[in-house]
Amino acid sequence: MIDLRSDTVTLPSPTMRQAIFDAPLGDDVFGDDPTVNKLQAAAADVVGKEAALLVPSGTMANLVSVLAHCRRGEEVILGSQAHIFWYECGGMSAVGGLHPHTVPNQKDGTILLEDIEKAIRPFNDHFPRTRLICLENTHNRCRGAILTPEYTDSAGALAKEKGLKVYIDGARIFNASVALGVDVKDLTRSADSVSFCLSKGLACPVGSLVCGSKEFIAEARRMRKSLGGGMRQAGIIAAAGLVALDEMIDRLSEDHANAKTLAEGISNIEGLSVDIESVHTNMVYVEVSDSAIEPEAFLEQCRQKGLDFVQTDTRTFRMVTHYGIDKSHVDNAVSILADVAKR
Ligand SMILES: *Cc1c(COP(=O)(O)O)cnc(C)c1O
Repeated sequence: MIDLRSDTVTLPSPTMRQAIFDAPLGDDVFGDDPTVNKLQAAAADVVGKEAALLVPSGTMANLVSVLAHCRRGEEVILGSQAHIFWYECGGMSAVGGLHPHTVPNQKDGTILLEDIEKAIRPFNDHFPRTRLICLENTHNRCRGAILTPEYTDSAGALAKEKGLKVYIDGARIFNASVALGVDVKDLTRSADSVSFCLSKGLACPVGSLVCGSKEFIAEARRMRKSLGGGMRQAGIIAAAGLVALDEMIDRLSEDHANAKTLAEGISNIEGLSVDIESVHTNMVYVEVSDSAIEPEAFLEQCRQKGLDFVQTDTRTFRMVTHYGIDKSHVDNAVSILADVAKR
């Protein structure tokens, strides 16, 4: 099966499996796991923050981060297409008593600064207090769109002027830095905190890192414990993460090239349409434009021929390239799609 459902389906590399086997371990709730400590130091260093914290998932990374930044009843400004808003069970409200204030995401994943500014509450006894702005890079629901250093800096400057914090959900922030050819620090320097996933394009089995000041990470650590995310010999997770930081970041450019090749191949298939311009990183969105093909049957027939991906809307499908998908898989995927689409 050529599995393009997500980059979360990636399996650990042979080097990761060996590193997991060899990792020195300890009890991380006591702060004693040397491999976790090494990964947290390395992660903080890579994104240019003082400290970092290993958590089990991107969802927990987002939750501990907003909880560490805000008190109950406070307001969080975030994009209308944010992963935090759509796909995390409303955790910030359910668990944190926080008030999400969504403002429109533009197609390029940004939120207009003027919209952010309008959303910030003035002092008034009736209003919740605005505390935090959440950005997302790359932007999942905006087709893997990339926020630039310039945009992030301008949002950071606005936040600073208004006394707010900025958090970046950087589940795929290395896809952004690799695609732009900039140091990831340029994408994080204006944020108070940032998280990234090990378990997506970086191909680890588990884990995300939350990064920020020492003080913020101390608070995030408490929140992680309260959510049940304190793990004991977590070095078996961290070991793969250390390999990922060394070996899996630069290769993301291969995924981006494969996504472009896939999109170009699909653009030649009658009945399917793809906006090549909107292929920013490793995600390709395909519209079934020919009403002769029933969308459900389309996906089902592709699966029967060995190609899997996800449906995101009535006629829209998402395909994600990743470690484990090479050029020959892409070529095969295009022929399967062509074959199914012509019926
Ligand atoms: C995948 C993803 C998450 C959540 O990560 P999980 O490890 O699946 O919980 C958060 N934010 C974005 C932008 C993501 O793409």
